[in-house]
Amino acid sequence: MDTDVLIVGAGPTGLMLANQLARRGVRAMIIDRHSGPAQQSRAMAVQARTLEIYSKMGIIDEALQLGREGTGANMWANGKWTARIPLGEIGKSLSPFPFVLALGQDDNERIMGAKLRECGVEVQWNTELVGLQQQSEHVAVTLKQPDGSTRKFTAAWVAGCDGGRSAVRELSGITFPGAPYEHTFFVADTEATGPMKPGELNVYLWQDGFHLFFPMRGKDRWRVIGILPKALRARDDLKFEDLISDIRREAGAELSFKECSWFSTYRIHHRCAERFRDRRCFLLGDAAHVHSPAGGQGMNTGLQDAYNLGWKLALVVKRQADAALLDSYEQERLPVAQRLLRTTDRIFRLLVSDSWLAGVFRTRIVAKVMARAMTVERVRDVAFRTISQIGIRYRKSPLSQMLASLPEGAPVAGDRFPWLHLKLQPNGPVEDLFQRLDDTRFNLLVIGQPAPAAGALGMGDLIRVHAIPDDPANANELARIHVSGPAFYLLRPDGHVGLAGRELEAAAVTRYLAEHHVRVDKGTEAGVSLRAAA
Ligand SMILES: Cc1cc2nc3c(=O)[nH]c(=O)nc-3n(C[C@H](O)[C@H](O)[C@H](O)COP(=O)(O)OP(=O)(O)OC[C@H]3O[C@@H](n4cnc5c(N)ncnc54)[C@H](O)[C@@H]3O)c2cc1C
Repeated sequence: MDTDVLIVGAGPTGLMLANQLARRGVRAMIIDRHSGPAQQSRAMAVQARTLEIYSKMGIIDEALQLGREGTGANMWANGKWTARIPLGEIGKSLSPFPFVLALGQDDNERIMGAKLRECGVEVQWNTELVGLQQQSEHVAVTLKQPDGSTRKFTAAWVAGCDGGRSAVRELSGITFPGAPYEHTFFVADTEATGPMKPGELNVYLWQDGFHLFFPMRGKDRWRVIGILPKALRARDDLKFEDLISDIRREAGAELSFKECSWFSTYRIHHRCAERFRDRRCFLLGDAAHVHSPAGGQGMNTGLQDAYNLGWKLALVVKRQADAALLDSYEQERLPVAQRLLRTTDRIFRLLVSDSWLAGVFRTRIVAKVMARAMTVERVRDVAFRTISQIGIRYRKSPLSQMLASLPEGAPVAGDRFPWLHLKLQPNGPVEDLFQRLDDTRFNLLVIGQPAPAAGALGMGDLIRVHAIPDDPANANELARIHVSGPAFYLLRPDGHVGLAGRELEAAAVTRYLAEHHVRVDKGTEAGVSLRAAA
């Protein structure tokens, strides 16, 4: 076997998967048909759930330093400022990163690429997947190499992170049902001055459509996104200058563009692969789902796909789990993609609809209703949980199991375990729980009862046990998530609850892991450290 895992595509999704495997001691082969990293910024929004993962990877400081925290959205209707929706710290108490970070896709790729090199893995550029054949024990692939010659390789597993026109998907015969939207979009990175509120998102809503102005790093730098006016849709030689008069007519004569460093038009599709796996091949990111950019979810969803598959694939490659564990990737991520497509589609149709009624709704109702709604804490919470992706849960996954019902409102199996501040030692300091969770292992949280020693679970270093001492500060914090009395939560490496219940029996944890394809040996020597080989 030439490699355990071949990752096709070194966009954000491929880089995230390669990093997650490398952190767990699996060095994947990662190829890309381009000659080097993409130069265009493309996606701009990095959501809180992605930032939580960046924190685990040790790249959060660089991301925060390069990016810009979104503090608010200014809504303009028919050229008039209508409302400001405060977004800064919107998810306070829900995530250590309670905001959306504006950081271009190129920067995200650069940071993840550098981290991957630190782990000793280099992307093989100018290398294209051109053929693929599944065998029972491996996949035989044909790669076109930088000198133009082709060579055959074998890989135990292939991860198709190769974008909307995925070769892995097509060579696997997986259909990609959906359709393009009729509108053509433009995106331009500009230097501009005008009525836009500096440093914040400015949303211009018109009878005929919308324009978004995203603040970028640097003085007067704005990313402008909109739909092409009908008269310009058929033009092949379109330049940003051709659009300026339309944008100014709507945004006001004070608006002036000094420079445009990148301009692109594109048609957006909404499509979802019918399957995310064909035997030894997986689809992730844009290869599995493409949708409108409404809500800044595209890149983030691909990154979450990779975080979901990464820990499972690492366990299987290291023979710490059976291949059946990998079935849960599609079972968990396909419904997430389908739901996302439905929601972004609905929002998007409203934003771009040519109908008179939709125009009235956009210009008279949307801004005011949104601004009013966002003053209500509950609405803000729901909005943040949805957009930040911290609300994604796998309650129907076969990996999610409840042994006893917990109080109404408490986290249940499948949920991302919430961000808490707890005393983890009697008389110790209050600590950030997320900092203490080790995402290269399972984490067992034991509340209101004695905790078993990790060694007693017979899983060696595959699990970390966190005993939450009885303490008024802990009781208050746990009450916030509706947990009272004895409880335990077994968290998967990706922070989602696998098993939960009230009284903990050590054997139940071992049984759960064994039933869910994780190989548990009786002796402590069996639980090989996931990190040891890293
Ligand atoms: C103009 C534009 C603007 C966008 N704006 C936004 C936005 O504002 N917000 C948002 O969330 N999303 C946005 N997106 C979408 C976002 O860029 C994608 O969701 C994201 O890039 C998906 O990442 P990925 O790694 O899955 O795929 P990609 O970034 O497409 O990466 C796939 C990689 O695979 C490589 N590859 C393809 N085929 C092969 C092969 N056969 N062999 C080897 N390598 C191969 C490609 O060279 C590429 O590097 C935008 C996209 C475009 C085009």
